[in-house]
Amino acid sequence: MGLFTSTPLPEPVGDHAPPVDEHPARIQQVIASLRQASDARITHPRRFRAQQLRGLEKMLQEREVDFLSALEQDLGKSVTEAKFTEIDVVKSEIDYAQRHLSEWMDSSTVKVPLLLQPAMAKVEPRPLGVVLIIGPWNYPLQLVLAPLVAAIAAGNAALIKPSEVAPATSGTLAKFLPLYLDPRVYAVCEGGSDTASDLLSARWDHIFFTGGEKVARIVAAAAAQHLTPTTLELGGKCPTVVDNHLLPTAKRIAYAKFMNAGQTCVAPDYVLSIGDSDALVDRLGKAITSFYGKEPLAHPDLGRIVSDRHFQRLRRLLSMGTVAHGGTFDEATLRIAPTILRNVDLDSELMREEIFGPILPVIELSSFEEALDFIAARPTPLAAYLMSENPRLQSIFSDRVRAGAIVHNAPMAQTIIPALPFGGVGASGMGSYHGRHGFERLSQMRPELSKTTVIDTFSTIYPPYSWAKRKIIDRLL
Ligand code: NAD
Repeated sequence: MGLFTSTPLPEPVGDHAPPVDEHPARIQQVIASLRQASDARITHPRRFRAQQLRGLEKMLQEREVDFLSALEQDLGKSVTEAKFTEIDVVKSEIDYAQRHLSEWMDSSTVKVPLLLQPAMAKVEPRPLGVVLIIGPWNYPLQLVLAPLVAAIAAGNAALIKPSEVAPATSGTLAKFLPLYLDPRVYAVCEGGSDTASDLLSARWDHIFFTGGEKVARIVAAAAAQHLTPTTLELGGKCPTVVDNHLLPTAKRIAYAKFMNAGQTCVAPDYVLSIGDSDALVDRLGKAITSFYGKEPLAHPDLGRIVSDRHFQRLRRLLSMGTVAHGGTFDEATLRIAPTILRNVDLDSELMREEIFGPILPVIELSSFEEALDFIAARPTPLAAYLMSENPRLQSIFSDRVRAGAIVHNAPMAQTIIPALPFGGVGASGMGSYHGRHGFERLSQMRPELSKTTVIDTFSTIYPPYSWAKRKIIDRLL
């Protein structure tokens, strides 16, 4: 069977044991050796960075089948979806970094005020040192490797702690990454919260965390002990406001929502339909059937829920509204059919917590203004989507909605443009990455000033001060 033809259904759930937590002593040993190599600045030269990026690319090429198989075991991801969202997206980040590395590493000179001339002033990106990358389970490969691309490009050493909830992917990374990257400066530590806690007790130069708000607080508190800068890539409920109820709209929403069985941080969490939603609900149903057929639970392109705990949580959410489409599930394979809910209880868990599964509530509102108020009254999401061809609504939406990203008519497409910063604001996180933004996030943008003592121009401003000196300073600054 070809790699891109139909994918078999996943293996029975739970065949891959969670990784064993690393021994604290070994963790300390790994960190110490990364620190030592980083202090020797072996990651700094451009050539080294380019070499490591090539190594990462090679790993994704040569071990593609191993990673695809791991992703299928962990999340029942279809080959096409896994390749696109976990491998190709990272490859395109690598490719973009390779093409722009020299330009990003270049220092940029800045203008020097007359008072300080002659002098040379520049901003030079410098590596931070050793970066800790902690990843989530939903895109368990992409969300540790894309930050790693930024860490490598910026000339840092890095340690990756993949999610223990996606054990096959974690194990595959731990097995192969040291074979393709320089093990003196890049390492993988497997395990759950114990490993994470041991890692967090050490001093890092940056902590790059992707996950939920609860653990983010633990990470931020641990980072505060060493005053370590952090990037927190969190989630939230991404609203999708629908003004244009046509079939292409429904298809785009359904595609973004039900990819990876809805377990995507930037997936549309709920729909706010402006005006009557009957036609939209009908078209969403049609879109779902056209993607996953009449028996979605048996369709190979529908991913599964990552764990029994999340499956039970989502089952509970199904009862918090009226099922307009889908609503079926299979406990044995941890699958839930793409579901549209109407008449949802706005005070229920369904509308308070991030859904993170294939359940899409559709809420009918009478005006666009009401939708803006609805969004503003809730925590800031990672992205906000507007489905409308109306330029006036688009402009008001961009102006009034606070979110990590604003997207018109293409939910989730923002994530695959390396030149766009990816990250949250407020409740959805802090700091962004991808492309140059990742490079700068993991660099110190260091100012450097050089002046000669051969000509002593400063004598004009030294004490004792006078009216004339004051005038010179005023003029030349
Ligand atoms: P999580 O917060 O439960 O876990 C994330 C990571 O933290 C895992 O590696 C886990 O082992 C580790 N961890 C667990 N306990 C810890 C502790 N005490 N100290 C330090 N680390 C600890 O998140 P999750 O369930 O894996 O992922 C789902 C969440 O991630 C959702 O909220 C989703 O929105 C968010 N997410 C955000 C993005 C983004 O890019 N902004 C992307 C994907 C997922």
